[in-house]
Amino acid sequence: MQAQIQIVKYLKKYKIPFSGLASGKHDFEFEIDNKFFDCYEHSLIKKGNLRALVELQKQENMLVVNFSIEGTIELTCDYCLNEFDHPLSFKERALVKFILEDWEDETEEVIILSKTDHELDISTLLYEYTNVRVPYYSKCTEQGVDISCNPEILEKIAGESGENEAEKEEEKIDPRWEALKNIKNN
Ligand SMILES: [Zn+2]
Repeated sequence: MQAQIQIVKYLKKYKIPFSGLASGKHDFEFEIDNKFFDCYEHSLIKKGNLRALVELQKQENMLVVNFSIEGTIELTCDYCLNEFDHPLSFKERALVKFILEDWEDETEEVIILSKTDHELDISTLLYEYTNVRVPYYSKCTEQGVDISCNPEILEKIAGESGENEAEKEEEKIDPRWEALKNIKNN
């Protein structure tokens, strides 16, 4: 419960109060940091450091929100378990419409708010925009910048599989097995 209150408090800063704004364009800036990702239990991103520039265009019955997000997220390499920064830079757009009495065509791209709402919460959008950019698998040399896999770890993994091969070889020629085979055959 306490944690839930902390999360709600932290995410409050991702609300844009638009009701008092004049028509036209307005710029906002938000930091997306580790604490932000901590607020989401199922976030694929645990650590990140990004900046979101948000341009909000206020129109009479609609808001057009352009996002420009840049920074890094931390990935764990699937090969050597190294943690590294993966740079991200992308743009997104969201449309916000206010409910009219005969509004019916809701779509996923359009956010619907009531006419009495006075602020837009962009925390969920930021969460989704960044999390969908986590790759299915991560490798130092592919998503990292000027880094390669930890050679010691790779060597260790290669060494371990090598040992297994050696064990198998040993089994084949273990004289005890030979002896058992002979008993069976007799
Ligand atoms: Zn690696």
